[in-house]
Amino acid sequence: MSHVKTLCIGLAMVVCGALAISGTAQQAPPAPPPITMKMLKPDVWAGIGGAGGNSTIIIGKTGVIVVDAKQTEAGAKDLLAEIAKLTPKPVTTAIITHSDGDHVNGLVAFPAGIKIITHENNKKEQEAALAAGGRGAPPRDRLPNQVTTKTKESMTIDGVKLELYHFAPAHTSGDLVVYLPAQKIVSTGDIVTMNRADDNPNIHFEKNGSTEGWLTNLKGMIALNADTYVTGHGDLATKADLQRKLAATTERRNKIAAMVKEGKTLEQIKAALPDAPAPGAPPRGAAPAGGAPAAGGRGGAVALTYVETAYQEITKGTKK
Ligand SMILES: [Zn+2]
Repeated sequence: MSHVKTLCIGLAMVVCGALAISGTAQQAPPAPPPITMKMLKPDVWAGIGGAGGNSTIIIGKTGVIVVDAKQTEAGAKDLLAEIAKLTPKPVTTAIITHSDGDHVNGLVAFPAGIKIITHENNKKEQEAALAAGGRGAPPRDRLPNQVTTKTKESMTIDGVKLELYHFAPAHTSGDLVVYLPAQKIVSTGDIVTMNRADDNPNIHFEKNGSTEGWLTNLKGMIALNADTYVTGHGDLATKADLQRKLAATTERRNKIAAMVKEGKTLEQIKAALPDAPAPGAPPRGAAPAGGAPAAGGRGGAVALTYVETAYQEITKGTKK
């Protein structure tokens, strides 16, 4: 895609986003878009789309494990209704890949008292969002009640073997990658998404995400014996998709580092390496329709592009 075309699409999205906000501010929330259920193995399904990020559904011996919980009560109810079509077993465990509201906040519709597993930094970010309040804050009575602290933690839940990885901070400081070794399936959270016009990763600088850590995560996920990756948003991915994204992003980050070394300014680097706009509008960090800023939503106060985030990291490293 040409740079001019990319810029035009970016402008159109900002304008459309602004119109959408003014048009829907006074109305009841629209029904969430439908979820597409895809069977990956007889006991593992992907719940693509709907309200919020993608979910992975794993049917255990007596109950169901769900990875990521959608954004809203209505969206999560849709997901639970889809699960009920697959099995009469109750949802007993949720594993949440990171602290963004579009993966967390649907927990409000999940059964009370279930096990909710996250990385410890995810829990800290949710607690901070709860303390800050606002529309994006997570449900108070569905905070994580089991946290992981290591790079790799293996566990068996309800007869299902799982490996939970925190390779490094990437999308946020508390990313968790969920691997099902027997089924060769990985849930990537938003470390990998398939709904952007380019292969740039989404990094929440304000949640201590890391462009360098993102590369570590991709290498870690590629090294797993897996053939299906349930991404955070958009379609499923293959190992080849991850390899392409890793190559493209490594090249891009190296170019940014080289330009920093040459003494180029951020504006010069951004002009040379324009980012495609993040999917959806308004941009990360903007106020949602008719409400306060989404403290626990998809972003905080700062919405940095990939180039801006990488620049901050690289210049911080050189000044030390
Ligand atoms: Zn996210």
